Formats: sequence, C-alpha cells, structure tokens
Amino acid sequence: MKDSKPILVIASRNDKKAYEIRVLLKKLRVQVVTLRDFPSAPHVREDGKTFRDNAIKKALTISRYTRLLAVADDSGLEVDILGGAPGVRSARFTGSGATDTRNNRKVLRLLGDLPMNRRGGAFKCAVAIARSGKLLGVVEGSCRGKIGFKMIGRIGFGYDEIFIPVGYRQTFGQLGYRIKHRLSHRSKALKKAVPILKKHLGAD
Ligand code: IMP
Repeated sequence: MKDSKPILVIASRNDKKAYEIRVLLKKLRVQVVTLRDFPSAPHVREDGKTFRDNAIKKALTISRYTRLLAVADDSGLEVDILGGAPGVRSARFTGSGATDTRNNRKVLRLLGDLPMNRRGGAFKCAVAIARSGKLLGVVEGSCRGKIGFKMIGRIGFGYDEIFIPVGYRQTFGQLGYRIKHRLSHRSKALKKAVPILKKHLGAD
C-alpha cells in the first residue's frame, strides 16, 4: 500500500468477483485493495431480504472497519419460473456445502426440460458505497437472459456456465469477459457507481 493514489477497498473475499470489479473500475485513479488485504476484517452475515440490504450492510461494516472508502457488491441470479430463486441465496442455494457446480445442477434440475421460452431470468447486482461507516450511495444493475440446458464454458464464476444473455446463444462461461463486461449486471451497476466514487475519492 505504498502508492499515493487514494485507496478503495472492495468488500469481498470472492477473488473472481473482485477481479471483475477491479477491471470495471480500472479507469478510476485509485489503488484497489480487497478483503484479502484485511484478513481480520469481520465476516458480514448476508441475511438481508434484498441485494440492496446486503450490499449496504457489507459496505457499512467494511468501511467502518477499514476507515476507507468501500464498495460492496451483492448479486445473484433470479429465475422467473422459480419465483425469483435462488435470489439473495444464490451463493448458498444448496446449503452449507454449496459449490458453484452444485448450485448450477440444482437450478438445471428444477427447470428440467422446460422449453427455452420458460427459462427466463436475470442477474441482479446492487452496489453500495460507504466511507468510515457512512453510506454514500447505492446503485443497481441487471442483465436478462435464459437458463441453458446444461453447464457449458469455464470462464467466470457462479451461474455463468448456465446463463445465456439476451441476444446471444452461448453462456457467459463461453462468451468470456469482454462480452460479459459489456452486458453484465455488475458492469451496469458499477457504471452508475463511478460518478459517486469520483465525487468522494478526492476527499481521501
Ligand atoms: P454474494 O457474494 O453474496 O453477492 O453472492 C453472489 C452469488 O451470486 C455468487 O456466488 C454466484 O453464485 C451468483 N453471482 C453473482 N454474480 C454473478 C455473476 O456475475 N455470474 C455468475 N454468478 C453470479
């Protein structure tokens, strides 16, 4: 942390999510750190009813702990025919031993062989920004698509292997980051977060 640029902490221990946020914010003149740089930072219980609630809770807790400007992303997959599940439970859809593969298999099992026109859903993302325990803003983004019939593609994380964004015939896992960064829920939310971050970065 010797850089003289202001520091922005990404309130996440998920390396793949942090990588995406880092890339999407690369034009900001900041030194980006993550919770990997704060091994003793508190683990936030994501028990909110919405992505927004959880993002706010993470941003407030981590900015209070680090005394830094913090950005927190809470996100997940909502499948129409499952009433919005897995939703805020996306990461732990299959319980305490959940893995991306188990979660993907469960969604595919629940959808069975429903036709494509009944496999709609969306990735949702809420991004909260806070400094030293004070909330500075919350923004949201979403990306619609369909759930495929099997897991394909190795790029990305979570449900990328089964999610086919609108306008494409391949999953995010196949399409790769260049396209994902153009379309994703996270990129849409972070685009809205940039002006808020810029406004507060100068004051570090
Ligand atoms: P969070 O860390 O509580 O926000 O959990 C996010 C969970 O939602 C991840 O573990 C994934 O299962 C899912 N998720 C969120 N964003 C994405 C994405 O960009 N691609 C695939 N899955 C995602």
